Amino acid sequence: MTGRLLVTGARVLTPGGEWPLGWIAVEGRRIAAMGQGQPPPGAGAGADVLAADGLIALPGFVDLHVHGAVGADVMDADPEGLASMARFLAGHGVTAWLPATMTATGPDIERALEAVRSVAGPVDGGATIMGAYLEGPYLNPAKAGAQDPALIRPAGRAEAGRLLDLGVIRVLVLAPEVEENHWLIAAAAARGLTVSAGHTDATYDQALQAISGGVRHVTHAFNAMRPLGHREPGMLGAALVLPELRCELVADNVHVHPAAMRLLVQAKGSAGVVLVSDAVRATGLPEGAYTVGDQPAFSMDGAIRLADGTLAGSVLTLDRALRNLQAATGRPLAELWPAASRNAAQAIGAGDTKGALEPGKDADLVLLDPALKVVVTVAEGVVVHGGDHLSRNPAPAGRAPPD
Ligand SMILES: [Zn+2]
Repeated sequence: MTGRLLVTGARVLTPGGEWPLGWIAVEGRRIAAMGQGQPPPGAGAGADVLAADGLIALPGFVDLHVHGAVGADVMDADPEGLASMARFLAGHGVTAWLPATMTATGPDIERALEAVRSVAGPVDGGATIMGAYLEGPYLNPAKAGAQDPALIRPAGRAEAGRLLDLGVIRVLVLAPEVEENHWLIAAAAARGLTVSAGHTDATYDQALQAISGGVRHVTHAFNAMRPLGHREPGMLGAALVLPELRCELVADNVHVHPAAMRLLVQAKGSAGVVLVSDAVRATGLPEGAYTVGDQPAFSMDGAIRLADGTLAGSVLTLDRALRNLQAATGRPLAELWPAASRNAAQAIGAGDTKGALEPGKDADLVLLDPALKVVVTVAEGVVVHGGDHLSRNPAPAGRAPPD
């Protein structure tokens, strides 16, 4: 169903400010019109109606960094698994996302990227797959985190070139201080990819070099990088003070203390922060034993760890991340919402179609209740979650049905 849809009665968060009451008219996959107050007569002609009284309308969440969920992992290279992840994410307000690979052999990464490419685009009942997020293998083994250090390697031209040629990578994570990776920063940036510093031990000076080489993004700020030192601020210090870098944040209250989240928002402004889940296979499933990559991991108390206690991704979803960010910062939603959608869309060069409620943009939106729980998700004009809130093409009482 990609017909007409009319959202009424919502508090609407737009790039131009917050509307206490507004409406959004969707035609096909795009937002056709929107305004404050009640929709003008005729705006809903022939449209299905979402009565959003008491709800908040935001752009659908954009999650750039998702390894897995509901039992599926991107490294399974299984298109069905990717589709089930897309549907799970839609239930948490996500309308666009990037499946993320992990450090592995070249052929394993290639298979995973090919699976992503085979399902890229809208997913029936789920969140649109915008391409892939390549996390590893060109990292620094000293900051491996849960990436397999034995498989971390410098970027060889043959292998990395083949991965780039698949044409599906949108974000490429690497350790920019590794000399052999320098050519790849330039090559990936020249193809329009977003190059992100992650799993990195870069010093502040190396971070400056990385920026001049084309790095514009930082993978899970604070995590898998050297801590902020007042004499050697490192990549983290550079990310905090330099506007060229957008910072991912895994806001699960485990990866980063709420006070550090608040510091990040104070330093970067909400426009510089990109909420990501870094979610893994166990997300959306009960606590217990799972695998992350090939390593055994245990999910408990909202975190997933390897046997030695190392965090192995998260079991976070972006709706909860936004709630945590608001609790940590005390900032209004009107200020914070871009961290869950717009900043990510802009980070991958998709800001002209995604990440904001504006006429002409894709009709990606999420309706939240006042506790910021997801009620309805619409991806590219299709209700992909909460369809029971929809009134199908009603003929208003006392008026002739539209022709
Ligand atoms: Zn990750």
